Amino acid sequence: MISLRKTVYGLVAIAIGLSAVQAASAAEEVNVYSLRQPFLIKPMFKRFTEETGIRVNTLYSQSGLVERIKHEGRNSPADLLLTVDIGRIQDAVDADIAQPIQSNILDANIPAQFRDESHLWVGLTTRARVIYTSLDRVAADAIGSYEDLADPKWKGRVCVRSGMHVYNIALIASMIAHHGQEDAKAWLTAVKDNLARKPQGADTDQIEAVSQGVCDIALGNSYYYGKMLDDPNKAPAAKKVRIVFPNQADRGTHVNISGVALMKNAPNKDNALKLVEFLSNDEAQHMYADINFEYPVKPGVAWSEMVQSWGTFRHDALSLNAIAANRSAAIRLIDEVGFNE
Ligand code: FE
Repeated sequence: MISLRKTVYGLVAIAIGLSAVQAASAAEEVNVYSLRQPFLIKPMFKRFTEETGIRVNTLYSQSGLVERIKHEGRNSPADLLLTVDIGRIQDAVDADIAQPIQSNILDANIPAQFRDESHLWVGLTTRARVIYTSLDRVAADAIGSYEDLADPKWKGRVCVRSGMHVYNIALIASMIAHHGQEDAKAWLTAVKDNLARKPQGADTDQIEAVSQGVCDIALGNSYYYGKMLDDPNKAPAAKKVRIVFPNQADRGTHVNISGVALMKNAPNKDNALKLVEFLSNDEAQHMYADINFEYPVKPGVAWSEMVQSWGTFRHDALSLNAIAANRSAAIRLIDEVGFNE
């Protein structure tokens, strides 16, 4: 215990982007390394500590946590790694820092689509990759699918961030899974031909670009729309744009996850399991999804009012494992078609 405390304090000294590592005075604790921002996770951790007495120490960084845990090796104090996007969770699996989480509670609460087949991670929230269209310049039913983004009638009218961003890699991986390499390549080439400008910026920048008339159609994650509508400075731009859930007539909208993995050398494994199970329960699921305008993974949990206002939608049933399996092919494809050039 003493050596763990020393390690935790050592982290404080060298931490980059460290949010809070509390003194390890409680007998029961769990250490969470998080790629998610502290404000998104603290409220649930507070409730967990209230219910269980288990203290949650968090270390936040926007990047580098997988490498850090690998480097810390057997002495790593990390019990859990919280991430966004299947790609970043897969990085943890590929770095061999995760161990299986076996739990009947998790199996019951989280649909198989959003859990790893080898139990090396579970999804905690989902987010839809949607199409944003100009209210003024695009008719409500003018575009209904990812495939439609390739229609030549949209030439010079589409905005998107870098093809190599993890969110786009996952979407393109899903296109490969559904259509095969050749068709996915033809599609991506045609989407590139329709771009209004070189891929750039973040998802919110694409919504801004539609509101400013730089383009008429954009791709982005669903929660960014909620964040903008919730921000008085950005709401006017978001209100010029509608959210379209693609592929409602067929396979459904592509969804990604934020998730968690149990670390191989977790010093507080039992407490870590309790925390993950807690995060999958109704109360935490609602809170977690609500704070960032995401969707709970657990079926039947109420969505936030804003998210409800966008309507229900059918999501693509493709497993996140299948998306992960096609990520390398997607990266090659993005490179081959010179999507970012
Ligand atoms: Fe994001």
